[in-house]
Amino acid sequence: MTRKSKIRDLKERFEKTLKKVGKELRKLPVDVKRDEYIRTTVDSDISDRLNKEELNFLGGFREAKKHLKEISSIQTSIPKILIFDIETAPLESYHWGLWNQNIGLNQVKEDWTVLSWAAKWAGSDEVFYMDTSKQKDLRDDRKILEGIWKLLDEADITVTQNGVSFDHKKLNARFIQHGMKPPSSCKKLDTKLMAKKYFKFTSNKLEYMTDKLCTKYKKLSHGKFPGMALWTEYLKGNKEAAKEMKLYNEYDVRSLEELFFKLLPWDNQIDFNTYIDSCEMHICTCGSVDSVKKGFHYTRTGKYQKYICKSCGKESRDRTNLLSKDKRKKTIRSRCSR
Ligand SMILES: [Zn+2]
Repeated sequence: MTRKSKIRDLKERFEKTLKKVGKELRKLPVDVKRDEYIRTTVDSDISDRLNKEELNFLGGFREAKKHLKEISSIQTSIPKILIFDIETAPLESYHWGLWNQNIGLNQVKEDWTVLSWAAKWAGSDEVFYMDTSKQKDLRDDRKILEGIWKLLDEADITVTQNGVSFDHKKLNARFIQHGMKPPSSCKKLDTKLMAKKYFKFTSNKLEYMTDKLCTKYKKLSHGKFPGMALWTEYLKGNKEAAKEMKLYNEYDVRSLEELFFKLLPWDNQIDFNTYIDSCEMHICTCGSVDSVKKGFHYTRTGKYQKYICKSCGKESRDRTNLLSKDKRKKTIRSRCSR
């Protein structure tokens, strides 16, 4: 192989690797898109035989390959974040009036069931959806429950709007009635609880929050079947209603994801650093690795590195005490001597 063809071959491989790095990077839910990944360094083996331009290519190639490896190790340790939403069928009952009714169990004609669910993994564009509309019995949720069970079992973190008190528990109630096992445990994040904890919005409803905070996916207001009509028509087997159910359910999940990433920088419940230990960079709670060191946090016995996230502005700090053991011993102990 001549020197020229060798270089050409390497250039081609470099470009392919770079493309792959870019593709992999786009798949990451956390923002590890760093220029550092494609920094140019010199391949020492042949460096002295090449000119500057060739060196840059080879350096970049070696670096790109190294970072592709790094990315795939980060890729495997990134927590799987499942964003989901369910729709349930209402109970049907016999009752004698409308106002202030107290319906006994023996008046229940049909118990509630799960009608549909939509879910997606954070960072991926695909939305999964299942409903009962193609079944003979629209209230038989066994099959669609198995679908969401599998996803829940895989998830490290789940994101819902009001799901801690509703979606998760509703699903559990149906899982157990079908004799299904509990899915593997996960960290449950709830945008409604996040909103309550950190903000005082006029409303903590998905509709209000996505309208105020989201730019891409705001909650859709119902079209053909306003309010209850969507459920009653769906249960009558109206295909148009089933179509609308799918549309809103999927859209809700997309807008929930956007809202979640808007709220995430304010929240401390997940620390990506504990999940992605193969990433040496400091990862902010918003998922960005673009943090800069900024001063220290001091306590009575310690000094800790502080960071400011360039992406969301959130401050965070290391747990490592930078104070030496000797110095720590010399810190003043406050004890009441009187
Ligand atoms: Zn951040």
